[in-house]
Amino acid sequence: MEKKHYERPHIVRLDAGMPSKAGIRSEQLPTTHIDGIAVTELIEKYGSPLFVLSEKTIRSVYQKAYKAFSTRYPKVQFAWSYKTNYLSAVCNIFHQEGSWAEVVSGFEYEKAIGNGVDPKKIIFNGPAKTWDELVLATENSSLIHIDHLDELYMLIEVAETTSQKPRVAIRVNMDTGIYPMWDRFGFNYENGQAWDALNKIMHSGKLELMGLHTHIGTFIMSANAYAVAASKLAELARSLQQKFNHQLKYIDLGGGFASKNTLKGSYLPGSDTNPSFNEYAEAISSALINSHFTPGELPLLILETGRALIDEAGYILSTVIANKRMSTGRRATIIDAGVSLLFTSFWYQHQVSVAQGTSQYREDTSLYGPLCMNIDCIRESINLPLLNVNDHVVIHQTGAYNLTQWMQFIHLRPNVVLIDEKGEVHIVREKEKLSDVNGPELLPEHLAKIN
Ligand SMILES: *Cc1c(COP(=O)(O)O)cnc(C)c1O
Repeated sequence: MEKKHYERPHIVRLDAGMPSKAGIRSEQLPTTHIDGIAVTELIEKYGSPLFVLSEKTIRSVYQKAYKAFSTRYPKVQFAWSYKTNYLSAVCNIFHQEGSWAEVVSGFEYEKAIGNGVDPKKIIFNGPAKTWDELVLATENSSLIHIDHLDELYMLIEVAETTSQKPRVAIRVNMDTGIYPMWDRFGFNYENGQAWDALNKIMHSGKLELMGLHTHIGTFIMSANAYAVAASKLAELARSLQQKFNHQLKYIDLGGGFASKNTLKGSYLPGSDTNPSFNEYAEAISSALINSHFTPGELPLLILETGRALIDEAGYILSTVIANKRMSTGRRATIIDAGVSLLFTSFWYQHQVSVAQGTSQYREDTSLYGPLCMNIDCIRESINLPLLNVNDHVVIHQTGAYNLTQWMQFIHLRPNVVLIDEKGEVHIVREKEKLSDVNGPELLPEHLAKIN
């Protein structure tokens, strides 16, 4: 027998995500528990798939964000972005923490009122408010953020029919160095539209101009873009002060902070690369306090942060239905949670971990959902241990947008549970039944019988 060639053992540095002599980075340790509750127990009791929300995480992430801003700027107010996750339980955790509500439709406005939010603490954004909605928001003294001139003129008309003067801000869009620019909402800064709208408001005398608003985009990976936005709004505030001697109550920088998720095609995990709340807060606060405002004039800073506050608190628990080999020889695992529950899998590489101990052996796998649709793929390529039918997996950081953009397609939607800070589990949205789908349907009489 030929003697084997001796190779000296040596230690190599592992670069995240890069293949090396030691293999490729694989999905870490199993996630057997969430906030102390066993994944298997949750699935046994509430079914699979299952959405799980951690109240502890929601509160601690919020508190971290609030602290980042309040230590750097004297007056800070968060307003919870309803469309990011409008489950009442989630909204009310944020409201208990002190958040106002930020809504973008009449339905969301009603939901905020129903949750018990003081109407004066509701910010009404969006490009499609109706006459009736504007009347209601005006009578309630809510904050109305005007998106376009047609809305501005409608609001001037509304003001003639209401006992209250509408409390308004305008939404401003601008070049912050982020492209494509989100210029379909609001009035442009650079070409003078924003200044024009402000002049129209001030000269009309019919509206109470409270503040300025912008929302520069979503998942913005540059803290500096916010510094640019804050400086431009501060400039508009200065012009208002100079021309009209009008002092604004607030500057609202919208949402858009990146969560810790990893965008598809990213080289490194989002948890390592995305800016922290401290970095965003530093950029924004510096831009505002370094502007012309004297300490007495500093406006309230409003933030409408959505995804960065809730992504981390959401999990989807799912069960393996089958394993198969594709024609290419590639391994595929099919689980019972698909893209109909996980809209964000179209742009995130969601971390997926196994929920039980597994063998050492791992293989590059495609992870599919249960829909009869080719696009139903949760991860095209993920290095996972071999899973057996009925094993469980945990999909991480699913709290933002999935519970509002999910759809009832092929399968009914599952239970959503909240684990409270004491470790008690509450169903916060019941799984759907056939009657939920059939309920709103009406069958014309001539179609009532099929033979
Ligand atoms: C969607 C939205 C938000 C929240 O955005 P995130 O990216 O989730 O932080 C805030 N303000 C407005 C006007 C929005 O449309």
